[in-house]
Amino acid sequence: MSLINKEYLELQTEILKKQSSWKKAITHDLHHSELSLKNENMPLMEQIDLKVSIPKFNSWVLELMELLSEKQTSLKGEMDQLKELLKEDTLVRWVKEVIAFNEYYFTHFAKTEKVSEWIPQFLAEHAIRPYLRQLAEVYAEELTSFKQTGTCPCCGEPVRLARLEGKVGKKVLYCPRCYASWTEKRTKCSHCGVDHDEKMIYLHLENDPTMQLYVCDDCKGYVKVIDEKQAFKKEEPAILDLKTIHLDILAQEKGYGVTIEKDRVN
Ligand SMILES: [Zn+2]
Ligand SMILES: [Zn+2]
Repeated sequence: MSLINKEYLELQTEILKKQSSWKKAITHDLHHSELSLKNENMPLMEQIDLKVSIPKFNSWVLELMELLSEKQTSLKGEMDQLKELLKEDTLVRWVKEVIAFNEYYFTHFAKTEKVSEWIPQFLAEHAIRPYLRQLAEVYAEELTSFKQTGTCPCCGEPVRLARLEGKVGKKVLYCPRCYASWTEKRTKCSHCGVDHDEKMIYLHLENDPTMQLYVCDDCKGYVKVIDEKQAFKKEEPAILDLKTIHLDILAQEKGYGVTIEKDRVN
């Protein structure tokens, strides 16, 4: 059961392919450096000065625009219009605002420039991900010791996806945005961080032993949990997240949600 259509999944798969080759192009641009004041309660992204190459970001945005125009020819006009606007200062701003999750900025930009509301943020978001994924890879070891809950320790995305891995079914959380992964006690709530088995509810789906929803009675947070032994073994986190969107809907219908970071810009 899936609520996303085949065309959308195909588009996302093509974008993922591009992102993985773009990420290879920046392997040598991003180096590990000691964090001067490491704060394990704050996403890594907020503690470092990520240097993004604007020419590369620009070329990735253009590639995404081309892909979208190919898939949906009706978008070509808007893409041509946007191309004219992609000057350096705009791209620098896009990088800054997409990292800060500033949805307001992108909605406003789209309105002012009279393009479809989803397009600017979609382009910026997909073009920044190679950097976020490279960052998560370079700092993989550090990220396992972060103590914050509710959001990804690397990029700040709300937590919503986990896998049970290995013989014992260890709970490993995955960020579908930057691919950071970290382990957590099964009985611990990924949102409020309190370990209280009596407050955790494990919802099983009818006819599907591979997926569960872990919901917390205290903070009303939820996480989609995939049993690795059963299914989706080789799917990457972004695809897994998309293919389990019906679980997000189910959780939300039942009154559960994912944390939105407190200091996100509005
Ligand atoms: Zn992340
Ligand atoms: Zn909780």
